[in-house]
Amino acid sequence: MDITTETISSLRKQLIAGDIEAVDIVEALDERIKATEPSVHGYLRFDKERAIDQAKSADLSKPLGGIPIAIKDNINETDEFCTCGSKYLESYRAPYNATVIERLKDAGAYCYGRTNMDEFAMGSSTEHSAFQKTNNPWDKDRIPGGSSGGSASVVGARSAIAALGSDTGGSIRQPAALCGCVGMKPSYGMVSRYGLVAFASSLDQIGPFSRSVEDSALVLQAIAGYDPHENTSCREPVPNFSEHLGKSVKDLKIGVPKEYFGEGIDPEVRALVQKSIDWFSKEGAQVEETSLPHTKYAIAVYYIIATAEASSNLARFDGVRYGHRTSEATDPISTYLKSREEALGTEVKRRIILGTYVLSSGYYDAYYNRAQKVRALMKHDFDEAFKDFDLIVSPTSPTTAFKAGERLDNPLQMYLADVFTIAANAAGICALSLPCGFTQENLPVGLQLMGPRYGEPTLFQASHAYEQAHDWWKTIPSIA
Ligand code: GLN
Repeated sequence: MDITTETISSLRKQLIAGDIEAVDIVEALDERIKATEPSVHGYLRFDKERAIDQAKSADLSKPLGGIPIAIKDNINETDEFCTCGSKYLESYRAPYNATVIERLKDAGAYCYGRTNMDEFAMGSSTEHSAFQKTNNPWDKDRIPGGSSGGSASVVGARSAIAALGSDTGGSIRQPAALCGCVGMKPSYGMVSRYGLVAFASSLDQIGPFSRSVEDSALVLQAIAGYDPHENTSCREPVPNFSEHLGKSVKDLKIGVPKEYFGEGIDPEVRALVQKSIDWFSKEGAQVEETSLPHTKYAIAVYYIIATAEASSNLARFDGVRYGHRTSEATDPISTYLKSREEALGTEVKRRIILGTYVLSSGYYDAYYNRAQKVRALMKHDFDEAFKDFDLIVSPTSPTTAFKAGERLDNPLQMYLADVFTIAANAAGICALSLPCGFTQENLPVGLQLMGPRYGEPTLFQASHAYEQAHDWWKTIPSIA
């Protein structure tokens, strides 16, 4: 078995036929991890012995039986560390399983490895991790994207079969695009966030990283659906996503929003995305220009709403119950202040300050309330567009992976990495990034497809058709 070319579905066929055993997958992955991790550093931790035990007891009759999945380090898994990439939670162990972990287990999968991330999922390069820098598998001088850069880099490096990440403003799709893999943000409500460490609760979703669209559908199938622990999870039955694969894109109506093709896009990214759009037309889809006029406010709206919610969610990290507690406290207030001062990173502090400011009395209406109104307009743009179109297509990221350190001192530059991904979170719709080619420098480019809320079946249908007609997803980085 060549683990670099396998997918969940190809491995499952071999497992069922008895051609391989589940432990063979762990051994093969271990070899690959040894070859790639010294230059990628995508994993924070992995435990081969534990994986072997789990592989041995895997129930192969289940849909993901015997398949290892890497997990972003902000998803609770009983007794495992769950650091969120923060010094603050360096020694925190999860007391319970997130619903997605339970669901993966119910489907026969097991967790193998915890992946690096920007601290508390705030960032677009994974450089805000308190523990290590992760490198892009296609060029180790470049960032893997973020905040789920660990999950993206290990799937891109083929040192994981699939992984879970979280996406609040693009943290699955943007790193997937930059690392050359498939990254999927489900509709708001599709997947339970119970056990995900909250960043911005009205935007957060958990979703899969995978090597293929088919695998993305398989993992989503396992983790999706109503959860009594999570009152935003949807009560509708989950459709069978795999049934929608293998269909053509003929007669699908695809909108191309003009606001996503303006200034600031790398010309090579634009050209590859345009070529992909032309493919859809050639295959008989009706492709037409459309407009999402409030796109220009996306970054401003996101960085008000996300920071406001983060300032509230992160208030629980006060030195009392979880994680770090200062040794210099003299009273409750100094416990709060010093514990946070000592163990939270600069970007997290910046967001807490910003978020507290936009919520403060006197500024609430000017910033937070206003941002909520503009968010409603952004959502309305999509509602209108989806009256005419089944899907909307755009680049995932305006540029390819940038050089490490390049944007670290310029938060605004860093925030611009999410200009095309944020709107889907603001509107609660589903979106997927898949590879659509490589630049002259051999860096992967991602194509983003967006569908209406709970429009996952059509999203998978179109992405799968595109993927199968191209070989991009089979191209593997040669990691020195
Ligand atoms: N990069 C964006 C941010 O820094 C999105 C992060 C995310 O989706 N978790 O907030």
